[in-house]
Amino acid sequence: MHAHCDSLHCFLPPDVLDHMVQSEDPTVREAAAKTLATSAALRSRRVTLAGIPGFAGTPSPTGSKYRLVYDAQRRYEDILDNLVRQEGQAEVTDEAVNEAYENAGITYDFYNEVFGRNSIDAAGMALVSVVHYGEDEDNAFWTGDKMLYCDGGIIFGSTTQDIDVAAHEFTHGVIQYESRLEYRNQSGALNESFADVFGILTQQRFNDQPVEGADWWLGGDILAPALKERGVRGIRTLTSDKAYENDPLLGTDRQPKHMRDLYTGTADRGGVHIYLVATELGGNAWESAGAIWYKTLRALSYYSNFEDAAKMSYQIAGGDYGINSREQLAVGEAWAGVGLTVEKAQVVT
Ligand SMILES: [Zn+2]
Ligand SMILES: [Zn+2]
Repeated sequence: MHAHCDSLHCFLPPDVLDHMVQSEDPTVREAAAKTLATSAALRSRRVTLAGIPGFAGTPSPTGSKYRLVYDAQRRYEDILDNLVRQEGQAEVTDEAVNEAYENAGITYDFYNEVFGRNSIDAAGMALVSVVHYGEDEDNAFWTGDKMLYCDGGIIFGSTTQDIDVAAHEFTHGVIQYESRLEYRNQSGALNESFADVFGILTQQRFNDQPVEGADWWLGGDILAPALKERGVRGIRTLTSDKAYENDPLLGTDRQPKHMRDLYTGTADRGGVHIYLVATELGGNAWESAGAIWYKTLRALSYYSNFEDAAKMSYQIAGGDYGINSREQLAVGEAWAGVGLTVEKAQVVT
C-alpha cells in the first residue's frame, strides 16, 4: 500500500505523501511526486545493505566518536566526494553542515553516555552525514551506512535543524546492527517506533527536560513557518494527541494510538506506550523507561511484532527492576493502555 517508503527509513511518514499527491495545488503534488521518486531510488541500496548482517560501516581512525560531513551539492547522489567538515574541525559557514555535525555528536553522546554504546554499530564506526541531498525535498534518510539530509521544500526547512531527526535516522542504524527489525508490516512499524522514541529521548536529554513538560513532538524544529503559524507542533507526536487535524497541506494525522487502530504497513509508528510509561514513572524519560526500551530494541528479532515488544519489555522491566516493581507495572499498564495485555504468567526472569 505504501510501497514507496516500505523499504526505506524516511523521516516523513508515507501517509503524508499519500495525502499530498492528491492535492489540488500542482506545487504540492509536484513536491510529493519528487520525494516519492527519491525514496524509490534509494530503496534498493538500503535493502541490500540491511540484508548483510554485520555490514561494516565507515571505519573511524579513533574507534570512537568520529564525524564526517559531506555536501551532496543538491545532487541526487550520496557519493562521498565533497568532505566539508570532519571530527575536530572548526565550524564552517554553512549552517546545515554544522547542524549535521552537532546533532550526530549529540546522538553519539546520548547512546554512549546513557547506554555505553560506541556508535551506530557498537564498534566505533564513523558517523557519515550527507547534507544538501537533492533539490529542496522534505525528507531525511538512513541509507544503510549514512544519514542523508534534504534542504526541505514545502513542509520542512533544512532537515539538519532538529536533533530528533538526526537521532531518528541514527537509531535506524542502531537497529540495523541489533534486532534488524524487518522493514515491513509490524516489525517495520516497530522499527519506526523505536527510531521516533530514541529521537525524542535524545532531544529531551540534550535539552534537560524531565517528563513533566517535556517535548514529545518529532520534527518540531524543521517545520515550515506556515505550518507553525497554523499551530502544528511537529510531524508526529508520541503522546496520544493527533499531531495535526484537517491541515490543508498534511491532512489528518493517521498515526495509530491504539492497537485497534493499527493497520498493516510501516506507516504505523506508535510510540504512545513509552510516553505512558515515562509519565507514570516521572523523572527523566531516558533513564528507566529509556533503558527498558533500549534493551528491548536489542533483544527483539527480525520478525518481531508489537506483542513481542510488549512481552519483552515487560520481562526486561521485571528482570531489571523486580517482579511487580513500579517500573514493571508501568510497562504492563502502558501496553494495556494501547490495547496489548501482557499476561503476568509470561514473566520469565
Ligand atoms: Zn524512520
Ligand atoms: Zn525536534
